[in-house]
Amino acid sequence: MLGKGLLQGLAVTAKNLVGSYHDPARYVTQEYPEVQPKLPEAYRNFPFLVSETADDPMGTLRCVACQICEKECPPQCIYIEKSKDKKPDATGKAQIYPAVFAIDTAVCMSCQICVEVCPFDAIKMDQEFAIAATDRFGGLLLNREQLAKPNAYYHQIHPTEAAEVDERLAAERRAAEEKARLAAAAKAAAPKPAVPAAAAAAAPGAARPAPAGSTAPAASAPVDPVPPPAPRPPSP
Ligand code: SF4
Ligand code: SF4
Repeated sequence: MLGKGLLQGLAVTAKNLVGSYHDPARYVTQEYPEVQPKLPEAYRNFPFLVSETADDPMGTLRCVACQICEKECPPQCIYIEKSKDKKPDATGKAQIYPAVFAIDTAVCMSCQICVEVCPFDAIKMDQEFAIAATDRFGGLLLNREQLAKPNAYYHQIHPTEAAEVDERLAAERRAAEEKARLAAAAKAAAPKPAVPAAAAAAAPGAARPAPAGSTAPAASAPVDPVPPPAPRPPSP
């Protein structure tokens, strides 16, 4: 029927108009920015760096500056400089860390490839969309300090994904600890290496072998001679 689609569209509009007076699910207008939108968990825009704690974000960054994300980023908007030294990560293991880590959000296309390629779950997608600056270049170039956000924040914006990551990292750490424990136990239980014959013969106090063909017993090692008795004093 001619105009059927138009009537169906008007019916949906009327339904939402009436429904918006009594059904909160049909409120289509929000008082932004006073009322922030509730974003779906899968929403993403720009990456951020995960730190284990909020107290010491720079000291507990998961990033080890392997630079894989920098190489794989299609528009090349990540810039990383490795540290010259190492410092303990959240697990106490000495690691290289990013001395410089910057992302140019003016260029980032939110593809999430950096997240997919990171072997350390150190970079994740944020939901912060209101990034505005009057300086197009410096203002949108986010540095390490601006990019670091704690794991608790990751749980807040992507709870399902963050729980999976935590579980996987905990399992990997347990497996590494168990491997180290087994290696230490195997090392402790390994038999001591036998002392070579030449070294044994050269050792002080070792018996000297008898000459070939001799029936004499092997000569024992020289023993300290018994000191002669002290001379008796002359009789009066
Ligand atoms: S989301 Fe894509 S474009 Fe943006 S930094 Fe990551 S890899 Fe690069
Ligand atoms: S974010 Fe991940 S992939 Fe990128 S440098 Fe750090 S550890 Fe490597």
